[in-house]
Amino acid sequence: MEKTALITGASRGIGRAAALRLAREGWKVCINYIERKDKAEEVCSILKKEGTEAMCIQADVADKAQVEAMANAVREKLGPISLLVSNAGIAGQMQIQDVKEESWDRYFDVNVKGAYNAIQAVLPDMLHAHAGSIVTVSSMWGLRGASCESVYSATKAALIGLTRSLALELAPTGIRVNCVAPGVINTDMVQVLGQETLGKLAEMTPLGRLGTPEDVAAAISFFAGTEAGFITGQVLTADGGFIV
Ligand code: NAD
Repeated sequence: MEKTALITGASRGIGRAAALRLAREGWKVCINYIERKDKAEEVCSILKKEGTEAMCIQADVADKAQVEAMANAVREKLGPISLLVSNAGIAGQMQIQDVKEESWDRYFDVNVKGAYNAIQAVLPDMLHAHAGSIVTVSSMWGLRGASCESVYSATKAALIGLTRSLALELAPTGIRVNCVAPGVINTDMVQVLGQETLGKLAEMTPLGRLGTPEDVAAAISFFAGTEAGFITGQVLTADGGFIV
């Protein structure tokens, strides 16, 4: 099966770093984005200059029809999809009594249903090939509790349940499903916390720093590669030791 990867939420942050790394490892890459066409096109043009077959495509992962159309466009342009990195996600801090129903639904629609939509859209290619790899991006807060992030944490725990169950369901077909659970990674997502809090979080991280998108991309790349050929249903934390 040719190496064609679809990475959701890849115009910036962890998704962008994963796209750059996977491309340099020989993957054809589709960069999905929701808003920042300019940023997605920038990643795409870097990749094309490096000789990678790349494309970018707008789709809200929460919208099933948009995700299916995206997967069809990837197939048409880059060939059957052999790797899905389900990375798109949203985060925020709220006390549970302040969580509006619309927010609850949006978190689950993007973080959990987004993965379900993307997985269903790429599976026909992988089932046909009896091969393929799915990497979900959860969070250390999917493994531990996070005060004032109960909705986010619940979505990320759901992704871990999805990963493990799907790994068992798809193992007889040769498709592997694994999960990366990042710690505090210095991307746009955490800037809302402010520099002081980020400094404290770096201190609380045993390795003494915040993670980089590249740190997480390395874990994604490991699961994607043939060296992880006997590994499925696993959750790999890339958190500098935060939750050890
Ligand atoms: P980020 O905010 O830079 O990236 C998230 C990306 O997802 C953005 O490009 C955003 O546009 C995209 N996105 C959001 N909603 C979307 C939708 N409906 N459809 C398509 N794309 C959508 O943050 P990041 O840190 O790079 O986050 C990437 C993943 O890593 C997320 O799933 C996040 O929950 C997870 N994560 C991040 C951290 C961290 O500390 N930064 C920690 C643990 C887990």
